Amino acid sequence: MEVLSPYKEVTDVILEAGGEPLKLCYQCGLCTGICPWNTVRSFMVRRIMHEAQLGATNFGSEDVWICVTCRACVQRCPRGVEIIDVMRAIRRAVASLGIGVVPDALRISAKNIAGVGNPLGEEPEKRDDWAKDLGVKKFTRGTEILYFPCCIPSYDPDVKTVSRSTATILNKLGIDFGIIGTEAKCCGEAIRKAGHEEIFQSLAKSNINTFGSNGVKTIVVSSPHCYHAFKNEYPELGGKFQVLHITQYLVSLIDQGKLRFSKEIKKKVIYSDPCYLGRHNSIYDEPRKLLQSIPGLELVEFPDSREEALCCGGGGGRIWMDTKKGERFSDIRVEQALEKGANIIAVACPYCFLNYRDSVLSMDKAETIQVKDVSELVAEAM
Ligand code: SF4
Repeated sequence: MEVLSPYKEVTDVILEAGGEPLKLCYQCGLCTGICPWNTVRSFMVRRIMHEAQLGATNFGSEDVWICVTCRACVQRCPRGVEIIDVMRAIRRAVASLGIGVVPDALRISAKNIAGVGNPLGEEPEKRDDWAKDLGVKKFTRGTEILYFPCCIPSYDPDVKTVSRSTATILNKLGIDFGIIGTEAKCCGEAIRKAGHEEIFQSLAKSNINTFGSNGVKTIVVSSPHCYHAFKNEYPELGGKFQVLHITQYLVSLIDQGKLRFSKEIKKKVIYSDPCYLGRHNSIYDEPRKLLQSIPGLELVEFPDSREEALCCGGGGGRIWMDTKKGERFSDIRVEQALEKGANIIAVACPYCFLNYRDSVLSMDKAETIQVKDVSELVAEAM
């Protein structure tokens, strides 16, 4: 019987996840050139690809955990290498084969997700407490839409404004929607990118069963990470649902003449494209159309936006890991927004919300600029 060396096994894991395109890498280095980390520190994506090809990955390096899976490199790679899959596979090797070390903060989040179904370690029974006073019904068979708010807007006291604003909008418009609170679990997108494939598989199967047994057909989500998981990752496990990001759904209601605004918001608003809505899923226009429909609102753009947008720093499980002051992309974004004279940074992702909120507070700019989800602005203008 052939005995595989750890490195042979690891190479197999990496190739299995990265596939043939990894072999196509010809070391041009464009991925390193476009990677946002190189604006704040050195991060040699090309070298990681080369080491993966050779089976010479340094699993103990901090670089294993750096990638935010923003997809800027994949978009640029002339050889079609799915670089995120390679990063994910390297992390998977560390998490499952016990080579190298999983960062403490990530290990705790993974343990919470595996144990209670959310990264914050909160009680599953409290998952729908955010909706208690809003008259939101439990989803039952025949309800038109399942609203799935994501773990962060379900539990985080500041980010609950996202789920509460969304429910308020849907209630005002008389939409037939419901929530599956206590039975729902984290979508698993980020923990999968952080290398914990088995946890993802377990969460996905549980959610697919819950959705299926309740007769869910259409899911409206607040998080681009839930959107990506439900739309692009669950189908391979048998979960096939119509999935809409809240910005897509609200724009469809504007087009049908159902959503109209009666109040002005006289503010200069800058919209930050979330990586998992933009580069991963090509949804750029709907959030902008929604914001531009609000009377009085002036929409301005970051110097780099849409396909070129800078990540907030929270993808790929980085939302649960510490990022040193001086290396936070969200700090750069807040500075750019201030230079543009914006009063509000509009987000469409709970991870962006958390990172920008923390940046605004740590930079002592809370008096100058606010962070608001698009749904909050819509609710205010109705
Ligand atoms: Fe390899 Fe693509 Fe990076 Fe070029 S851009 S070094 S081909 S992974």
